[in-house]
Amino acid sequence: MAETVQQRLDQLTAPGRLYEPAGNGAVRCYACAHRCLIKPGRRGICQVRFNQDGELRVPWGYVAAIQVDPIEKKPFNHFLPGSDALSFGMLGCDFHCGYCQNWLTSQVMRDPKADMGAYYVREITPEKMVSIAEQQNAPILVSTYNEPLITTEWAIDIFKKAKQAGMQCAYVSNGNATPEVLDALAPYLSAYKIDLKSMQDKNYRQLGGVLQHVLDSIAYAKKIGLWVEVVTLVVPGFNDDPEELWDAARFLRSVSEDIPWHVTAYHPDYKMTNNPYTESSSLQTASEIGQEAGLNFVYAGNLPGRVGSLENTFCPHCNFLLITRNGYIIREYRVTAQGHCPRCGKAVPGIWTNEPKTVRLDGWGTPHRI
Ligand code: SF4
Repeated sequence: MAETVQQRLDQLTAPGRLYEPAGNGAVRCYACAHRCLIKPGRRGICQVRFNQDGELRVPWGYVAAIQVDPIEKKPFNHFLPGSDALSFGMLGCDFHCGYCQNWLTSQVMRDPKADMGAYYVREITPEKMVSIAEQQNAPILVSTYNEPLITTEWAIDIFKKAKQAGMQCAYVSNGNATPEVLDALAPYLSAYKIDLKSMQDKNYRQLGGVLQHVLDSIAYAKKIGLWVEVVTLVVPGFNDDPEELWDAARFLRSVSEDIPWHVTAYHPDYKMTNNPYTESSSLQTASEIGQEAGLNFVYAGNLPGRVGSLENTFCPHCNFLLITRNGYIIREYRVTAQGHCPRCGKAVPGIWTNEPKTVRLDGWGTPHRI
């Protein structure tokens, strides 16, 4: 009989580190905020972490997607702009969003239609990941595509090697984190992108999460010094009410006025196909709300060339145009080697290159398959 997806993935595992014994052979996982209590022979909500004889086994030693993306695609606008990021993902997720654009990999253990995600599995080692990044001249490694929190042990093992090789590392996450997992990642992680999908807890429950957990993660990630950028996919009829956008903007402002907020356009996908595409006017409205709430950096995404100056970075002190973008392409870059505005001399929040002349302008702006 042919091997099932589950059998294949269960072989590609290692002993977990982000859990504690919970009595009678059960374990308590804290890689994400679900904090599953998992009895022997059972699985966590993500389906990819399981209790084998009192030990938590976790995904290790493979990728299901790997390519070089412009860092702007993640999206990060204040983290080494113009750089290539070796981006990798595994399989599974702790959420089940109806509009997931990566559902073939994220829902593989839940939705039989996503079974084919397992065909993309490629066995690999952390050393090989870093050597691919070096070959591709990618100074950044990013765990993305599926939810990285649920495979944090694997990411840490890669990031340790990447840091030794002088690279920087990032997560693209739903933010359903715990302080313990963020503390474990902190020595290796430079930047953390979090989706803030809604400000209504009932919406989060529908996706498989809890609003407060995500809000807490944003605040905690910022507190421990990670560079945090937040994305809200503006879905018509789901989270685009101006009051809700105001709540999101006010919350972010309460954590830090320097958190870049990306309000991005939705397109119908997976199980959510009845909601219309997001209009550029909605992104304009959301951006104005963010700016009025006092956020220094608000970006409109996924509609390149259709949102005026909302793709660009301006100095929050003197309004000087620092970075001009078109989609994932940098057109102009004026942040100094010290990370300052060249006009007023004030520091620009973010992680910047100390060699601004090397920033790639007018690059390819699209993913590059390996
Ligand atoms: S990662 Fe989250 S969903 Fe998966 S087992 Fe751990 S606590 Fe549960």
